[in-house]
Amino acid sequence: MSPPRWLADEMVGRLARYLRFVGCDTVYARGWDDGRIVAEARRDGRVVVTRDRALAARSDRALLLTSPAIADQWRAVRRAYPEVPREPSFARCGECNGVLRPFLPGPETPRAVGIPWERVDRGLPLYRCLDCGHSYWEGTHSEHLRSRLSAWESEDVR
Ligand SMILES: [Zn+2]
Repeated sequence: MSPPRWLADEMVGRLARYLRFVGCDTVYARGWDDGRIVAEARRDGRVVVTRDRALAARSDRALLLTSPAIADQWRAVRRAYPEVPREPSFARCGECNGVLRPFLPGPETPRAVGIPWERVDRGLPLYRCLDCGHSYWEGTHSEHLRSRLSAWESEDVR
């Protein structure tokens, strides 16, 4: 069973990024009113994830979060939808929800600052967002992400 597509309201922006990091298609409704959130979620078949009880009640499908803490929110998502991956993947852009594709730089490719080009030239896979051009690779950031997600899973003892 594939995980649902999400529509995250303004209060759960951090969670939206984590959902994208594990590969879930997640729209972040920054500055949208409730009517637009409900309508767009219905049109696209998305689950509204929110801390707003009234918004959850108006939505066709919703996950109402009660805690402001990201670890609790993550666990609530995984309890309700165990098919949401627990491991980060290079499928969705955390910045914009665009689709990531493997990117093979050539000799003409401009060497943007911040990318470990030496390691890329030696075979480190690079992924690029088709929408915003942001680049991703396996490194410090993805390691931190992986250990944070696994810590949240293992703290689930309450
Ligand atoms: Zn992007």
